[in-house]
Amino acid sequence: MIREYFRVLMVDLSAGRSTITDIDGRNMVAGGSGLAALLFEKYGIPDKPWNEPGQPLIFAIGPLTGYFPLMSKTVCAFKSPYHDQFAESHAGGRSALSMRFADYDALVITGRAKSPSALIVGSRQIEIKDVHYLWGTDLYAAGKVLRRMLPGSGHRTILRIGPAGERQSPMACINADSYRHFGRLGGGAVMGSKNLKAIMIHGDSPFLLPEGKDYVKVFDKVYKDMTDTDMMSKYHNLGTPGNVRVMNDLKALPIRNLQATTDPATEGITGERFAEVALLRNAACAGCPVGCIHIGFVRERFREENRYIYRQISYDHELIFAVGSMLGVMDCFEVLKLIDVAEKMGLDVMSPGVALAWATEALAKGIITEKETLVPLAFGNAASYLTALQHMAYGTNEFYELLSQGTAKAAERYGGGDFACVLGQEMGGYATGETFFVSQALGLRHSHLDSGGYSYDQKPKGKNVEDAVKFMIKDEKGRVFLTSMVSCLFARGVYTDEVLGNCLKSVGYGTLADNMDTVAGEIQRLRWKLRVMTGYHPESVSIPKRFTEITTWKGQIDSVFLAALKDQYAMAIRGLAQPETAGSRAEK
Ligand code: SF4
Repeated sequence: MIREYFRVLMVDLSAGRSTITDIDGRNMVAGGSGLAALLFEKYGIPDKPWNEPGQPLIFAIGPLTGYFPLMSKTVCAFKSPYHDQFAESHAGGRSALSMRFADYDALVITGRAKSPSALIVGSRQIEIKDVHYLWGTDLYAAGKVLRRMLPGSGHRTILRIGPAGERQSPMACINADSYRHFGRLGGGAVMGSKNLKAIMIHGDSPFLLPEGKDYVKVFDKVYKDMTDTDMMSKYHNLGTPGNVRVMNDLKALPIRNLQATTDPATEGITGERFAEVALLRNAACAGCPVGCIHIGFVRERFREENRYIYRQISYDHELIFAVGSMLGVMDCFEVLKLIDVAEKMGLDVMSPGVALAWATEALAKGIITEKETLVPLAFGNAASYLTALQHMAYGTNEFYELLSQGTAKAAERYGGGDFACVLGQEMGGYATGETFFVSQALGLRHSHLDSGGYSYDQKPKGKNVEDAVKFMIKDEKGRVFLTSMVSCLFARGVYTDEVLGNCLKSVGYGTLADNMDTVAGEIQRLRWKLRVMTGYHPESVSIPKRFTEITTWKGQIDSVFLAALKDQYAMAIRGLAQPETAGSRAEK
């Protein structure tokens, strides 16, 4: 069932029409990140704002989805409400396999529905359903109704937004099957701007596997590496929450708005502590034998009665950092309650957590008052943060409305930019040093996963700007190819270039396998071209003073090295975004 082209479902919500179109380019951009970029190049409108109805919301899967384990992500591309530029966000759940079984390589949604709607897609069904009665409902209430609307599990995915997305907050996520998220850069707001409460994909067609021994042999090796070796076991056991103690020991855990990088009190929110008292079970994305999703519980009193209900909440390192250590909340059940509220509202947990950490310090410094914050924000005061998260989702007053646009925007208006922990967007949970700060601040997704800057910081490499820039560019290129395969990045130790090449060949994508390096370079270049074309100036990115004030296990951050690294990386990005030369084309 391999194909050298992409089978793309186009849905125009304004016209209420859909078409299926075949688009060339498999051997040029592979799928996933590459395909999403290709489609944005074709259908995006660079000089129009992100919420222009004609702007596309794109979902793309990869050539190995359905054939191999952990090829389980879907790449979502859009023009971001956060910075009005090209953006990408990834999520798993059942989204990728559902698209594979519905027989689409990508879904492109344009237009704006006349009333709040749910888009239902299958191989034999495409329907835009009026769900105005769900507008305003939180994510949990909406989920219950949507699951009844399209019953079944397996190859069915439900992507939905909460009140934050409806209000078009740049901190709104798209929730995928309850426990996964297209979290960052405001995909939820893009759905809100299209009057789209939910997208449901029904994988209702058969999917044939290749015949012959080659595929079985390659599959067996990959599967064994994932399950019989210790390459993936850390993700199943403690999962990423295991990083909390590691980062704290390294003096690299952002604490109380990055005023500290280590604190013994974080013992209350380590992965070990969660596993001991709050872990209910593990879960997995469809097609994943690893199961890194850790699900804890919160207990809530049922009305006024003496009964309790339990809600299941997924947690990982980034969330624990954002509404735990960053807010000085050092109790795992309090952290779960905060995650629960953010989830319910359809907020990406990371950005509002970091934004509220800034607001807490700004309040303590007298830059803002309780007239703005409405509640007495104070590090460790989980009850105030529970209320503040709802204010963020609803934009209750001018302050929260602005803060939910981004910490930097609020700091521009009120002051306090020096201690806004923003690296392109609100920071990730790794204060490992200069390379990570530059990598996230300038990286295309402003994600801690754009490149392995955090791991480079932890190696005794010294302070060589050229070497660090080379590392970031090369590492990004490798990751971009993996995300074009839509591999979960946790599997990067298993999916080496050699293994990926074997996988591609075993299902019939021999040309792609023979040109992986060239294709990876092309995708990297295309993504940067689109980012710059939509207004990105990497040289004008600034890294706030707070990041230079901290001390890690390596000592004080070196401001001179940081500045030089930032400048050189910006130049390298500019170079990547340049139009292709005749020479580079001839190499392909
Ligand atoms: S390792 Fe985790 S995130 Fe990755 S595919 Fe498996 S369950 Fe999903």
